[in-house]
Amino acid sequence: MRKIAILGSTGSIGTQALDVIKANPENFELEVITAHSNAELLIQQALEFKPNTVVIAREDLYEQVQEALLHEDIKVYTGSKALCSVVEMGTVDMVLTAMVGYAGLLPTIHAIKAGKQIALANKETLVVAGQLVTELAKEYGVNIYPVDSEHSAIFQCLAGEFHNPIEKIILTASGGPFRGKTAAELAAVTKAQALKHPNWDMGAKITIDSASLMNKGLEVIEAKWLFGLRNDQIEVVVHPQSIIHSLVQFEDGSIKAQLGLPDMKLPIQYALGYPQRLKSDFPRFSFLDYPQLTFEQPDLKTFRNLQLAFDAMEQGGNMPCILNAANEVAVSAFLRDKVGFLQMSDILESCMAKVAYIANPSYEDYVATDKEARQYASELINK
Ligand code: NDP
Ligand code: MG
Repeated sequence: MRKIAILGSTGSIGTQALDVIKANPENFELEVITAHSNAELLIQQALEFKPNTVVIAREDLYEQVQEALLHEDIKVYTGSKALCSVVEMGTVDMVLTAMVGYAGLLPTIHAIKAGKQIALANKETLVVAGQLVTELAKEYGVNIYPVDSEHSAIFQCLAGEFHNPIEKIILTASGGPFRGKTAAELAAVTKAQALKHPNWDMGAKITIDSASLMNKGLEVIEAKWLFGLRNDQIEVVVHPQSIIHSLVQFEDGSIKAQLGLPDMKLPIQYALGYPQRLKSDFPRFSFLDYPQLTFEQPDLKTFRNLQLAFDAMEQGGNMPCILNAANEVAVSAFLRDKVGFLQMSDILESCMAKVAYIANPSYEDYVATDKEARQYASELINK
């Protein structure tokens, strides 16, 4: 029986993780759930799953949650500090980091330092501070199990191969809703169009990141740290059907891939249940439904964010942290109709050129960098 804490239980990954836990009561016990502002759903989840502890990050919603759970044997906390302390509880074995953005970094560090296994959905954690987080995980003997479907695919391909060096990995990308569009066409796309992903139903931020190929850029950096790769060992190929979730090539030239319908429940369940493959009733893939699986080069000139991510990874240090902060601000502005689709890349590029570069950042440096990059990005937007 594995005892799970879910950071971000009200989100796309969080709710699907609850479905997985519900379907496998003999394998998982839910200890902690947390949300930022969706108090209603958090209360509903608490009443259904009866976890030990819930956290509502927004302090003005504390009373509402506390009152609703008054007659339950459930502890209720609030504030961002509580997110860090609940993951340290003795009753928790594994923490699923399903919060979105930079806010996921600190609770993940706390969980690692408390020796909890990590099921990592929050890719921003490894983009911002991949070196620090993976070194900490090593120091504290903690495994980081990927939830992101591409990284789960690679992790699944590596089963039984951990002593065989990787030659390279190939991350597949759907290409998003704007695949094949020119820059001129992209300049005019709307928020509503960007929020319609062809294959995946996800939270708003990652959906915009998928439309701009930023998501693939973040995943490239995530893969570097998860699998300890050199930059030149990571390739991206566009595969619009999202059936092959990613591939690994070994030193003998052999390539292994993992396939399936696009459904996040599978990688979530694999991470939570590792090393077991639990039986599921997820819809099965059939080649006959997909007579053609196609592949193409990503267009790095039109989708500049992916190129910027490769650049940030190449420069290293705090550059991916700058990229991530600028991107979080840019996406939020795009979702509020403050900037156009292509301006998001301009903001990233300006921040990467402007914010002070640090070659060997400490945790405090990451905090300062994130703040400075957000401030500068906001200034650009307000201009
Ligand atoms: P959602 O926006 O759907 O959910 C985010 C969750 O985090 C919600 O529970 C939200 O609470 C909570 N949250 C947001 N901000 C804060 C904060 N500042 N403090 C505390 N809690 C917060 O996101 P997704 O589920 O789509 O994505 C979560 C993570 O997983 C992201 O890092 C994403 O990149 C990654 N991921 C997602 C995939 C997907 O299919 N969705 C696939 C692969 C990776 P509330 O609801 O109250 O706002
Ligand atoms: Mg992914």
